Amino acid sequence: MTKNKYGLNTVCTHVGEVKDTQFKGAVSPIYMATSYEFNDVDVKRYPRYFNTPNQEFLAKKLAALEHTESALIFGSGMAAISAMFLTFLKAGDHLVVQNTLYGGASNFIREEFPKFGIEYTFTDGYSISDFEAAIQPNTKLIHIETPSNPLLTITDIEGVVRLAQGNGILTTIDNTFASPVNQNPIDLGIDIVMHSATKYLGGHSDILAGALMGSEKHMAEIWHVAKNFGGNLSDMTVWMLERSIKTLGLRVKAQNKNAKRLAKFLMKHPDVKKVNYPGLKSHPDYELAKKQMKGFGGMLSFELQDGLDAKLFQKELKLIKSSMSLAGVESTVLSPHLTSHALLSQVERDKVGISDQLIRFSVGIESKKDLITDIEQAIQKTKERIQVQL
Ligand SMILES: *Cc1c(COP(=O)(O)O)cnc(C)c1O
Repeated sequence: MTKNKYGLNTVCTHVGEVKDTQFKGAVSPIYMATSYEFNDVDVKRYPRYFNTPNQEFLAKKLAALEHTESALIFGSGMAAISAMFLTFLKAGDHLVVQNTLYGGASNFIREEFPKFGIEYTFTDGYSISDFEAAIQPNTKLIHIETPSNPLLTITDIEGVVRLAQGNGILTTIDNTFASPVNQNPIDLGIDIVMHSATKYLGGHSDILAGALMGSEKHMAEIWHVAKNFGGNLSDMTVWMLERSIKTLGLRVKAQNKNAKRLAKFLMKHPDVKKVNYPGLKSHPDYELAKKQMKGFGGMLSFELQDGLDAKLFQKELKLIKSSMSLAGVESTVLSPHLTSHALLSQVERDKVGISDQLIRFSVGIESKKDLITDIEQAIQKTKERIQVQL
């Protein structure tokens, strides 16, 4: 854990700026060069070595955001995940991974690991005893995701760290849903933090990127592997990401506030059966979330009452878009059973608690009364449609 000299919003705005020494511009210049003259100190700059000026400086901001020493920026969240797994796992090793995992990461493990001879176990649940039961003598890594998608379950980070350290196992976390504003797992003992920067770090639904943060020692190991995989990105995108992060603290705090208000509104709504949001006292892991998070985040999910068609409801929304991605400044919804979890059978979906009535809601920064009005009118329209059909 590295202590920052500055507060969150100052880190977001100023740490890792590339100084414009030539013209004293207010923002970082973009260095698009893919070729640099050799210098006296023998730094071989090349984009795939993660060391162009824009990459090198943004990495400082990302490391500071997660209270650690070092970071690398990737072309996508999945490029970051794959580089991380294939750095710390080799043929004959075993990975313990949380069952409620981002679909892309789950596909990567199931489809690619057999080719590399890497073994894995998906836990049965997300309690510490579930993780303990999955550990084997050759387990080298435990990977968790909290809050999870789309049910917002909370995993006990310190509990997992204690279990792993007791067995000499490394720990990694997908911290995308919380963002560094709401959760800093390195403070709780996690070794490597991963983010899909496509989500909150980017925040405007116009950047595809990923990031890994950790100690200099661990990140040097990842660097050696990652430069061979070549999952890098353009410095134009790096620059856009730096600009986006300037408002990360402001955006996410606004989203936290809106999500909490919306979760409470939905809880009281007679046409809503259930709300999943870690900031509600009714959430089974509310106390744990309060302990390990600084804010409860902008993601929630809810179930409409039986008989109300979730697809119809989404069509009736006017302001809130039905869309695949999440964490933008604009509010979006999707049906997990038709999208992220469509490949599972009905029985499998029932087992993990993804009903046809479930809607995942990525809450944006719009005025909360407009979001409430939009949901209210969409529910009413959905009910009227049903009556017409009867
Ligand atoms: C989107 C996402 C990813 C993958 O990131 P990409 O940038 O799409 O590659 C990983 N984990 C979580 C939780 C995500 O939401």
